[in-house]
Amino acid sequence: MKVPLLDLTRQYRTIKDEIDSAIAKVVESQLFILGRTVADFEETVKQYTAASHAVSCASGTDALLLSLMALGIGPGDEVITTPFTFFATAGAIHRAGAKPVFVDILPDSFNIDPELAAVAVTPATKAIMPVHLYGQCADMEAIMNTAEDNGLSVIEDAAQALGAKYLGRMAGTIGTTGCYSFFPSKNLGGFGDGGMIVTNDDAIAGRLRSLRVHGQVAGQYVHAAVGLNSRLDAIQAAALTVKLAHLDEWCAARAVKAAYYDQALDHQRITVPARSDFSTHIYHQYVIRIEGAREAVKAKLKEADIGHSVYYPVPLHLQECFKGLGYMPGDLPVAEKAAEEVLALPVFPELTEQEQEFVCKTILSALA
Ligand SMILES: *Cc1c(COP(=O)(O)O)cnc(C)c1O
Repeated sequence: MKVPLLDLTRQYRTIKDEIDSAIAKVVESQLFILGRTVADFEETVKQYTAASHAVSCASGTDALLLSLMALGIGPGDEVITTPFTFFATAGAIHRAGAKPVFVDILPDSFNIDPELAAVAVTPATKAIMPVHLYGQCADMEAIMNTAEDNGLSVIEDAAQALGAKYLGRMAGTIGTTGCYSFFPSKNLGGFGDGGMIVTNDDAIAGRLRSLRVHGQVAGQYVHAAVGLNSRLDAIQAAALTVKLAHLDEWCAARAVKAAYYDQALDHQRITVPARSDFSTHIYHQYVIRIEGAREAVKAKLKEADIGHSVYYPVPLHLQECFKGLGYMPGDLPVAEKAAEEVLALPVFPELTEQEQEFVCKTILSALA
């Protein structure tokens, strides 16, 4: 039995007719960039999240970069973030010309430690960029308090968390802006790249809409600032509109798979994901910790043709490209230890119980 880490073809088969006809409509219209289909999708996300504005763009990475640009964050500014995330989080801060300041994570949730974030504030700090890793929210109340006390913006990297709720509010709608990714493997994935920013601030929304079209204002060919070419295309919007209607049901199905793993992976060297009491978990990834034996488990899974991955093997403060920031191994020990112990297992709505049984049996046999 071969078990994929993620199989998008199974999901596509369940909605093929709807998707194909929505895409065919866009092709018939020959209107591919922004336009009505994209505006309708933005409206749908706005209603889904209850944010005041939803501004689409070309990727989750651009959503982060556009947020920084709209807030006027650039050279000389510092942005506090986590080292234990996908590269784009810190990449966007660097791209904006600002300096990422990494603080360690909490060992149970893998999310940014809010107390360390508070201590890292300097006169140069302009924003905090928490990540809701694996689909579970960071401690937003503590982060928002630090931001308020110091006059900082908060950019939520909710690329893995569209649909998760922090004390009843949608992930991404609590900070100054919230950023989503529609990369195909995300819980709400398009048929290519795509992203979205939500905000409750009218002025920021206006700047985002301008910045995504080269900083154009009012009429065409009039530019107030130099922006990006970062727009969502109508084929993505059409597919995503169909899929968003299923998102909650898909996230609930992922939670059922997670509960199965929780039960079955009962071993003293395995730690199953901790759940925060202030957040739901949408299981973008189901990530366990394996003490001392991860490589042995990985080898067994590979031999059995079971998909698995390490998110993330190198914490960002130790990446070659950030050498100039001066971090050394040992500086952020909780993130460094996590990088050595985490393992993501197959989790998607269509995964079967037989497949999960085989995954668990294989893992436990590697630890026997
Ligand atoms: C996927 C992801 C991004 C970037 O999204 P893209 O759409 O691939 O650019 C940013 N941050 C995190 C945490 C992600 O998982």
